[in-house]
Amino acid sequence: MKIVVLDGYTENPGDLSWEGLERLGELTVYDRTPADKIAERIGDAEAVYTNKTPISAQTIGQCPNLKFIGVLATGYNVIDTAAAKAAGVIVSNIPTYGTDAVAQYAIALLLELCHHIGEHSDCVKAGEWTHNADWCFWKHPLVELAGKTFGVIGFGRIGQGTAKIAEALGMKVLAYDEYPNKALETDNCKYASLDQLLAQADVISLHCPLFPSTEGIINRDSIAKMKDGVKIINTSRGPLIVEKDLREALDSGKVSGAAVDVVSTEPIREDNPLLGAKNMIITPHIAWAPRESRQRLMDIAVDNLKHFVDGAPQNVVNK
Ligand code: NAD
Repeated sequence: MKIVVLDGYTENPGDLSWEGLERLGELTVYDRTPADKIAERIGDAEAVYTNKTPISAQTIGQCPNLKFIGVLATGYNVIDTAAAKAAGVIVSNIPTYGTDAVAQYAIALLLELCHHIGEHSDCVKAGEWTHNADWCFWKHPLVELAGKTFGVIGFGRIGQGTAKIAEALGMKVLAYDEYPNKALETDNCKYASLDQLLAQADVISLHCPLFPSTEGIINRDSIAKMKDGVKIINTSRGPLIVEKDLREALDSGKVSGAAVDVVSTEPIREDNPLLGAKNMIITPHIAWAPRESRQRLMDIAVDNLKHFVDGAPQNVVNK
């Protein structure tokens, strides 16, 4: 069986092995594939993997040997799953692989907003401490989290994992979810309506998926309902936030700090309004990317193809 990986670089920049897939067939891995080369590179392969490279109905039509599309990610919106189904092509995704990594990262962003560790370290290395009149100094207000309220929008796997770490820091948790599971409530962790959460949380962390109902959930109106000086964390999807509204709120000080790992268009555009905002941290969509979590993704990707070959496909998203 011929197997093609269209955009393997972000999953495996060289620190993992493709051996698992090599054992299943004749493997060709491309770091990246431009739009005009997708069908040509799939060619007569039976199995193709993609992370973010689109596989359209037209491409599926041009590749009649194709039987299996593996997604090297959870989200599979880059694939025309209906066209795949009509052509008898199985599409399998990786439902979960990075829960702990993303939860840890969300809290890392929060801790950076509270302490500005990177900036303080840079100042020391640049000589500011050496030449300082006092034995210590800080560039921003430093924030203790114990006793404050951590608001989670989207109390699923990652939201719950993030909340657990916030609780370990002494925070109270308020969760908003479209499908609350009351069994998850404890003395320190309660469900709330979205408005209650917006009004009471000192920190708001976004963990709901991007749906039409959640797009722009953080906007001028919802920000107006928040506490003055609130902090916002987004490790979910960029379009959950109306970026120009967050920019305004950061500049006015209504939001005292924001940290995002995802933005509306990725890679980030030069004119993204968040780029010049005060008290803003932006990282390039890396919450998922510790080696441990990418290894898990690789293992499940291999397992998905094995199951397909054995006639019992798993994690199928286009049944
Ligand atoms: P999950 O499905 O376990 O949890 C999502 C939760 O959101 C569910 O409890 C669901 O009921 C809730 N929800 C759905 N619609 C809602 C709405 N309208 N309002 C409020 N809550 C709603 O998913 P997960 O594994 O926790 O992942 C959460 C998100 O994290 C993913 O959708 C993805 O966008 C993002 N993610 C980001 C990275 C990264 O590298 N930054 C990596 C993995 C996942």
